[in-house]
Amino acid sequence: MTSHQNLFVALREAFPDDLDATAIETADGPGAPLFYTWRDIERATAMMANLLASLQLPSGARVAVQTEKSVEALLLYLAVLRAGYVYLPLNTAYQAAEIEYFIGNAEPSVVVCSGRNFGWVSKIAFKAGTQHVFTLNEDRTGTLLDRAAHHADTHTPATKWADDLAAILYTSGTTGRSKGAMLTHGNLLSNARVLKDYWGWVPGDVLIHVLPIFHVHGLFVASHGALLNGSKMIWFAKFDPAAVVRRLPEATVFMGVPTLYVRLLAEPGFGREACRNMRLFVAGSAPLLIETFNEFRERSGHTILERYGMSETAMLTSNPYHPEDGERRGGTVGFPLPGVALRVSDEQGQPCPTGEIGGIEVKGPNVFKGYWRMPEKTKEEFTADGWFKTGDVGKVDERGYVTIVGRSKDLIITGGYNVYPAEIEGYLNEMDGVAESAVIGVPHPDFGEGVVAVVVAKPGAKPDAAALVAELKGKIANFKVPKHCFVVDALPRNTMGKVQKNLLREQHKGLFGA
Ligand code: AMP
Repeated sequence: MTSHQNLFVALREAFPDDLDATAIETADGPGAPLFYTWRDIERATAMMANLLASLQLPSGARVAVQTEKSVEALLLYLAVLRAGYVYLPLNTAYQAAEIEYFIGNAEPSVVVCSGRNFGWVSKIAFKAGTQHVFTLNEDRTGTLLDRAAHHADTHTPATKWADDLAAILYTSGTTGRSKGAMLTHGNLLSNARVLKDYWGWVPGDVLIHVLPIFHVHGLFVASHGALLNGSKMIWFAKFDPAAVVRRLPEATVFMGVPTLYVRLLAEPGFGREACRNMRLFVAGSAPLLIETFNEFRERSGHTILERYGMSETAMLTSNPYHPEDGERRGGTVGFPLPGVALRVSDEQGQPCPTGEIGGIEVKGPNVFKGYWRMPEKTKEEFTADGWFKTGDVGKVDERGYVTIVGRSKDLIITGGYNVYPAEIEGYLNEMDGVAESAVIGVPHPDFGEGVVAVVVAKPGAKPDAAALVAELKGKIANFKVPKHCFVVDALPRNTMGKVQKNLLREQHKGLFGA
């Protein structure tokens, strides 16, 4: 047991002996291919960490980052860990109202944004008391790098303990208020170590990195996986299926949300030949359809390994990697990872018998510390005996495989992104002529689920569905905007007055032909 738990230090210890070997090769974006060596990572993170240290930030300061995906943005994340501050990534799709909430809630000392958003982001940040706003662009320009260039390229990493905060990831609640999940160095490091082992990372592995880095999957699971194994990454800022297929023969590991697998399968050039050197395909963040699982196996000869996790806990379960541990079963998310305890409870909190459906509860070194400045909310989400209530509904079969059957919180997952109906409903209900609304997710062949809004007009009003959608587009991230909007006379309700979203989902389930 080491006392020093700075995640950055653990990742750096895994760098290969040859620091001049390529750590990251860009596959797209300005100047591609660009090659970053392990020494580049070491030096660039030192310079950025020295810049942060020079700002004399209070201990535990948050560094909020909303930039396009770039290698430099990953280096910034590592630098924040190195300097001992708390990293707060924000989805690049978020617009002013959302950013205002996150910055107001997290009170970051430093905000880093794209140059083109500097005007409005800095206004919000300075108003909220942030002292420093830097810019960072996809083409390696911006004030962050300009300023870091003046700092030394050596830096002693801050001493961090397992229980110290490393990152805050904002999720949302069904009430529409986002919650900041506080993850510690110990949470992230323990999960990264377990996955390295469980997924059989070996010397020489090469990861194709295509996921966004504001989310647990791309930032933690994928990046930590490669770094902790000293493995090269082929880095895509944007997912381009044809380009990924061309690079697959150089790679051994790929991680994606289900939508990306559907897109790979739509590529005529995708098949056994492209996958000849691949070792592992990992899927997660949303349910993988059994059809996709089966078709992928037929086309590529590889069985996708599906795993399950969430912002609050990082990874919880995984299908087995080694055949001797069992088969990878489509439609399941596998077994609890080593060190993770998982149980299924009924509404009274009593354990469900094997195979019965209930709420999934978990415990383990990976489970977060709580929601940022929401002690009450945190308390509600844990049982009296310390288990975290995931909000997912599922079951465990007699062989121990876990299956997720739904989400108690009505969360919609579209293209791997979470959409919380209550948030969209809040905006719709404010609009002219709208009395009330219900937002649901229905099966979509590409995105897993497509967002659909059902709106009730105020007496005498005739809101135009297309105009409502157009108005939403200026307000919220595009992935949250309903793909369809219906204006109806009334919403179906149960005797308790609750909107029966299950009936709406049923009614519109064929909308996208999934
Ligand atoms: P996030 O915090 O954005 O990672 O979202 C977490 C939620 O995604 C979980 O609570 C699950 O509802 C869902 N999720 C993640 N992985 C899977 C999976 N393999 N199958 C089904 N749902 C999943």
